[in-house]
Amino acid sequence: MIFLSLSSLSLLAQTAVRLRTSDTELAFEAGPTTPRLISLSIPGQPQWQNGASEILIATAQIANEEVPIHWIFNPAASQTTDQLVSFVYDSTSPHLRLTWEWRARQSYGPIEHQILIENLDPREIWIPLQDSLAFNWKITPQTRLKHVFVEKGANTPSPVGTHEVLLAEGYHWTGTSSTYGDLNDSDPREIIPWSLVQNLALTGWYAGIEFSGRTRIALAREKDSLQGALGLNPDPATFRTRLAPGDTFESPVVFLGGFLGGPDGAGNVLRRWVRAVLGNPETWKDPNYPLVVNNSWGGGMDINEATATRMIRDSAEMGVDMFHVDAGWFRSVGDWHPNPQKFPHGLAVIADDAHKHGLKFGLWVDWTQAGLSTEPGALNARDPKVHDWMVTDIPADWKPEPFKGQTIDLGVPEAKQWAQNEVERIVTDYHLDMLEHDGYLVAHGCDRTDHPHAAPDPLNKCIYKSWGSYWVDSSNSTDVSYHAVRAYYDIYSKLRRDHPGLLFEMCNDGGRMVDFGSAAHGDYFSITDTYDPLSNRRAFYDTSHVLPSAMLESYVEKWPTPRIENFRYMLRSGMMGWLTIMIDTTAWSPEQHAEAKKEIDLYKKELRPLIRDASLYHVSPRPDGVHWDGEQYWDADRRRGVLYAFHGTIEGERSHLFPLQGLQPSARYHLRFHDHSSPDRIVKGRELMTQGVKVDLHLPNSSELIFIEGVE
Ligand SMILES: [Zn+2]
Repeated sequence: MIFLSLSSLSLLAQTAVRLRTSDTELAFEAGPTTPRLISLSIPGQPQWQNGASEILIATAQIANEEVPIHWIFNPAASQTTDQLVSFVYDSTSPHLRLTWEWRARQSYGPIEHQILIENLDPREIWIPLQDSLAFNWKITPQTRLKHVFVEKGANTPSPVGTHEVLLAEGYHWTGTSSTYGDLNDSDPREIIPWSLVQNLALTGWYAGIEFSGRTRIALAREKDSLQGALGLNPDPATFRTRLAPGDTFESPVVFLGGFLGGPDGAGNVLRRWVRAVLGNPETWKDPNYPLVVNNSWGGGMDINEATATRMIRDSAEMGVDMFHVDAGWFRSVGDWHPNPQKFPHGLAVIADDAHKHGLKFGLWVDWTQAGLSTEPGALNARDPKVHDWMVTDIPADWKPEPFKGQTIDLGVPEAKQWAQNEVERIVTDYHLDMLEHDGYLVAHGCDRTDHPHAAPDPLNKCIYKSWGSYWVDSSNSTDVSYHAVRAYYDIYSKLRRDHPGLLFEMCNDGGRMVDFGSAAHGDYFSITDTYDPLSNRRAFYDTSHVLPSAMLESYVEKWPTPRIENFRYMLRSGMMGWLTIMIDTTAWSPEQHAEAKKEIDLYKKELRPLIRDASLYHVSPRPDGVHWDGEQYWDADRRRGVLYAFHGTIEGERSHLFPLQGLQPSARYHLRFHDHSSPDRIVKGRELMTQGVKVDLHLPNSSELIFIEGVE
């Protein structure tokens, strides 16, 4: 082994290295035993100084013995370039290597960070939780700060959703994310794993986590310190994870960015960055992304060949891009073959029929769920070969629900291999263009002691049943999710390689898997499980702070629409991102049918290009269904935009002013009121940005689309 002289170490430690994007500059130093993020700079703004070195794990367990780890900086193995800073720390006994990496993957936006711990020892080593990032910003006690975070739309968007709270002395906050939160009304709401902190000048930093397992973000303010941590969720304690010889622990990737212009200023950089860095280039290449979809769930589980055939014709007639078969098509849960009573000729003929009509074909599959089917190829929870994949022993009287069964632990290599083969078979045999996964994809804890994850604490575990599935809560829950999520990512990465252009919808019981790890492995999210116009707008309002609008799917379900204005309001509440209609469209009146066709045409020709490429501004408070609300798209390159204006149930407020953003004060803009609720007019940018666009609507639950175009 090599001992570096203290002088050479301290020389390196004194030399700060930097990574820079147009929004964010980070400075780092390699201390002799631990690295440090020194500062975060935003052009023209005071620097954020970090008072703490990274906290690296200090112990490990070998054969149940706790051993200390002494990390020593290894300059020879470290590297720095314009895009990468990688500091390596070694421990000789136990023999481990820790790599502390920062990566600038675009010329703009945030910078990514990850910690890797590799077991170079011949022995199996257990390590405690290594956070992805811990920091301690030095602040002056009188600085006024605000903390912004957003909830997932899981189940139903809550009345708040987007939180903007004073980050005052004594503030202590933890936000958590998993794949199964908000199961019960009493659960704390899960966040999209992201947080933003800004000062009175509307500048500051934001950070997020690119992982779908159990993660948390914590913030605490005391005196001159704002401390924070991002990474795997340490609760329930005590986390530990196994490293076989040669294995590497990979902390969830986090990103850290500076911004100007408040949450929308941050969002307009972050959304673009997510598209460029995490998004699938094959998907974005298609000018028809995001698609317009007709989904069969309007009729629930009753889908069959006759209905599908009828829906395909109607979808094609209306100009829809994809026909999507939801739950109900299969023999039973875990037995993902077409039900022969419903689909006597199979599913491939349905897909081919959709293709013949110019439509893509998508399919719902709850592919990690086991049932009780004894048909060949079915995942049967009682089959001795797969029995151990269940997270606990299933009682003899257990039965799956119509479309929910028992989640298997994907972290088990044999279970992962089965799932990989099964999704490959489904995609190939049924000629899919899109695969939707639903149900609880990632096991919620696990009772097994022979799986790759840590064993549960036998004295402190809880096994319960919910939604037809057995669940386990114990000290290993985070480690179970760590392994299962990585298996899920592997499965989808391979599917993507083998089927370029195949789309993935991430549903997971409606909006429970909305995070940046999913964004890196799928194409669009179902953002909530409640589909009325208000819930759709609320979920969009929240989620669109951090993720590209094109990735945010709203399901539009049947809703009372006595007047055609209400009908348009219902459709448009789902037309700000990816639009999926979940209504039996053949039951629409001729007037509604004709109106839907016009709206779909408008979506495809005028709205979709803005949803893909334009900046987004939240130009009203969050929708409450009573008052007015709106969203503005503005594409500064094409000098085109649109204001979506919604009028809630309130009778007295017949007009509303929406101040616009992103325009040039001295330029003039042509406003076109699509429904002719007001005459078209030309207005100065300054007036639109200060006084706002005046919109007049008299009917409750009505809407208007105001197209904005630069005139010179
Ligand atoms: Zn397990």
